[in-house]
Order: sequence, then structure tokens, then C-alpha cells
Amino acid sequence: MPQCQFCGKNDMLPYKCSYCEKTFCGQHRLPENHECTAVGAGKKVVKKKNPEGEKKKSSTFTYNNEDDFID
Ligand SMILES: [Zn+2]
Ligand SMILES: [Zn+2]
Repeated sequence: MPQCQFCGKNDMLPYKCSYCEKTFCGQHRLPENHECTAVGAGKKVVKKKNPEGEKKKSSTFTYNNEDDFID
């Protein structure tokens, strides 16, 4: 049963904290509202962006090799 881990209130729409992964009600879903242990202790909460590593190489260099040897 979904239940707020902070106040113990049953909630139809529980929120899961992305830091401590506990379930909270709408009032206590924020880390500062449920005294989140994960967000204070471990400051290694880094959301990684998808790096733009692969750029499309549109420069298709066509080598025009016209060697006309006329004897
Ligand atoms: Zn609550
Ligand atoms: Zn939390």
C-alpha cells in the first residue's frame, strides 16, 4: 500500500523520491520536506545529460580524380 514514509499518510498518488527512493505524499515528496538522508549525505547527485558526442559529419568530400593523360 502506498504510504508516505514521513507522515505515514496513505496517498493515492504516491511520489517516489529520486534520492532515497522512498515513497512520500504530495506534501513530503520534496527532499527538504522529508528530511531526505540521501540528498544531504551524499552530494554526488549528478544528473547526466546526454552528451552531444556524435555529430553528423555532413562533409562528404568527393574526390574528383580526373587524370586525363593524353598521349
Ligand atoms: Zn507525508
Ligand atoms: Zn528522499
